[in-house]
Amino acid sequence: MCLNNSKISWFLLVLVVFLRSPSLAQERSVLDEVQEIMANNSVQAAFEYLDTHDAETLETLITLTEIPAPPFAETERALAFLEMLNLAGVDSSYIDEVGNVIALRKGSAPNASTLVISGHLDTVFPEGTNVQVQQIGDTLRAPGIGDDTRGLAVLLAILKSMNSNNIETEQNILFVGTVGEEGLGDLRGVKQLFTESDWTISSFISIDGTSDTRVTHQGLGSHRYLVTFAGPGGHSWGAFGLINPAHVLSRAVYYFEIAADTYTRGGPKTSYNIGTLQGGTSINSIPAEVSMQVDMRSESQERLIQIDSIFHRSINRAVQEMNLNRRNGPPLVVDIKLIGDRPSGETDSGE
Ligand SMILES: [Zn+2]
Repeated sequence: MCLNNSKISWFLLVLVVFLRSPSLAQERSVLDEVQEIMANNSVQAAFEYLDTHDAETLETLITLTEIPAPPFAETERALAFLEMLNLAGVDSSYIDEVGNVIALRKGSAPNASTLVISGHLDTVFPEGTNVQVQQIGDTLRAPGIGDDTRGLAVLLAILKSMNSNNIETEQNILFVGTVGEEGLGDLRGVKQLFTESDWTISSFISIDGTSDTRVTHQGLGSHRYLVTFAGPGGHSWGAFGLINPAHVLSRAVYYFEIAADTYTRGGPKTSYNIGTLQGGTSINSIPAEVSMQVDMRSESQERLIQIDSIFHRSINRAVQEMNLNRRNGPPLVVDIKLIGDRPSGETDSGE
C-alpha cells in the first residue's frame, strides 16, 4: 500500500458524520452539521494530529502486519492490538468469547447509544506465509497489510487523535478488532457482537478495503455449502451396480446448473459457483465419498433464498432418483452442511 495515509482524515470525517447529535439532525441538513463540527477547533486539531503522526501510524501498521493472523488463529495479533488500544487510552477493554478485541470510549450522554468502528484482525493468508513488510519506493508490501491490518491502524490513529484533543462524544464508541471475516470465518466475530454480546449497537462502521473514497452501504449476502455424497464404494467392475456418489453428484450439479442458469439470467445479480470437487481414490474404484463446496450470492435476500432452494431441490432430486434406480447395495447418503451464511442487507444511502 502507498505511503500516504493522510487519508485517515477521511475516516475521521465519516466518524464525525455518524456522531452528529440526533436532536440537531432534525433541524438542519447533514452538511450544515458536519460543517459546524468541522469548524470546531478541537476537531481541526484532531485532523492535524493525523497528519503530524503519520510516521507513528505507519510504524503501528508495520508492527501489526508482521504478527501473523491467518483465519482461526488471530489470538497473537488480538493481544497486541488490545495492548495498543489500552496504551492509547480507553475506558475499558476485553477480548470476548470468540476472540474479538473490544475497547470502549464512553460517551457523555446519560443513556448513550453505541457506535462501533471496526477492522478485522484476520488476513486471508494461511499459516506459514511470510508477513515481513517490504518497502519498495513509496509502497509498503506484505500479505494482509491492506486487508485489513490498515483498518486496525486507522482505528488506533482515530482513537489517539480524539484522546489527544479531548474530543468528547455523546455516543459511546466501541473500537473493535473482529475475528473470522475471511475465508470460512463466516463473520463469526461480527455475528457474536450483534447477537450474543450485551451491547446495543446503534451504528456500525467497518474500515476495510483499500478505497479511500467509497462508502459501502450494502451487504452482499452469500450461502455456502459443503455437500458430501457417501456410499459403500467398491471395485468398478466387481462391484458394478453399487450406487456411485460421483455419478449422483454429477446429476445434482447438472439439475442445479440448468435451473440456476435460467434463474440468474434476470433480476438483481445472483451468482452460483461450484468451487471445489473432491473424492475418489482411483480410476477403477467406485468412490466411497465425493464432496463439493458451493457458493451462492445475491444482492437480494429473497433471491438468495430462492437460489438456495433451487440448489436443495436439485440435490434431493438427484439423490432420490438414483437411490430408486440403484441395482444393489445400500442407498447413498448425502450430507448438506451450511458452512457460510451472510444475509444481504442495505442501509439507505442518505442515512
Ligand atoms: Zn477485509
